[in-house]
Amino acid sequence: MAAKAAELKAAGENVLSMSLGEPDFPTPAFVKQAVKDAVDADLSHYGPVPGMPALRAAAAKYMSSFVADKGGEDVFSADDIIVSVGAKQAICNAIETLVGKGDEVILPTPCWVSYTEMVKLAEGVPVMVRTTYDNDFILTPEALEAAITPRTRLLILCTPNNPTGAVYSAEEIDALARVLLRHPNIAVIADEIYNKICYAGACASWVDQKQLLDRMVVVNGVSKAFAMTGYRIGWLACKNRDFIKACTRLQGQQITCATMVAQYAACKALDGDLTCLDEMVQAFERRRDLIVSLAKDIPGWKVRSPKGAFYLFPDVTGLFGKHAPADSRYAHRTAANPQTPATLIRNADDLCEYLLTDGLVACVSGSAFGEPTCLRISYACSEQQITEAMRRIRAAIERLK
Ligand code: PLP
Repeated sequence: MAAKAAELKAAGENVLSMSLGEPDFPTPAFVKQAVKDAVDADLSHYGPVPGMPALRAAAAKYMSSFVADKGGEDVFSADDIIVSVGAKQAICNAIETLVGKGDEVILPTPCWVSYTEMVKLAEGVPVMVRTTYDNDFILTPEALEAAITPRTRLLILCTPNNPTGAVYSAEEIDALARVLLRHPNIAVIADEIYNKICYAGACASWVDQKQLLDRMVVVNGVSKAFAMTGYRIGWLACKNRDFIKACTRLQGQQITCATMVAQYAACKALDGDLTCLDEMVQAFERRRDLIVSLAKDIPGWKVRSPKGAFYLFPDVTGLFGKHAPADSRYAHRTAANPQTPATLIRNADDLCEYLLTDGLVACVSGSAFGEPTCLRISYACSEQQITEAMRRIRAAIERLK
């Protein structure tokens, strides 16, 4: 789809991209200044493998702040943190460290595409457990229990969720944790990279599961919360010393360390005035309300208001079996592939293609996340773009017969 969108753009078409997975805001000014300071201070040499000490300490404090019960000591110390090249590398390294050949890894779907491929890279076996629109895309304890076998090694869970926008409540996390307490060989990776982008107050965190801390890896970073995707700084937090040692050894052979200038900037971001985050989250919330209001009565769509992250994930099954107009570009695209029924919308992939060719809006088919009944539409863009994209989508859908 990205290639097709680029092709149309190159041909001069005004394609609106609603497929981005990153905030469109500029990085906060004080963070940009920190980069300049770091360059001037010659922060241009190798650093420690698990990360710059000041950033590890700041990340430990940041992660400890997600604990709901604020009494007592910080949950994490600097020694519990490994700083990597984005949350992506932190997750990949954690999987490599925990998963051996043939180990089963439970992935509630829809889920971020990379988990599945990372598990396969580690020669593990992804076990997809489907969550549904009707259940708010939340994994139930019953479904988790049913998926566990003697080979299960790991559960990877993302909250707030990409692509669904679902956010697990403290009670829902507790219920899953109770299942895991009965299975001491199963580790957890909690991907909480979107946890600052949450619309109903503070987001519940796995950090609160004290009894699981020795087999839990919690992932976060500056990419989404601080609009710093290109800096490539993320980290994991884990209380298990053996894990931290093994994962550090792995990282030492891969990258030596994450870029020092970027680590310095991330450190300043965490230590800085966090009101800039509130402004971004408020803007995302306004956009969320706008896109939901424009999407909720589109024919054939079922829409839930996302509770976190910046994606709308409508169920579009109501449009399957409909036909695009015979004179649409979508109908003509099949000239190269006579096997495909010319006008039929069979699934979310087809709908996505139709919205691109005839609505000039690029979205992502839910099948990319293991859920072929839905579409992912990013609202990390201006309110003006959201309004125009939804106008085009509605007009294109109203032309289906
Ligand atoms: N986890 C999820 C669910 C994501 O959506 C992404 C990025 O899109 C990442 C992790 C990776 O974040 P980073 O850019 O810090 O590598």
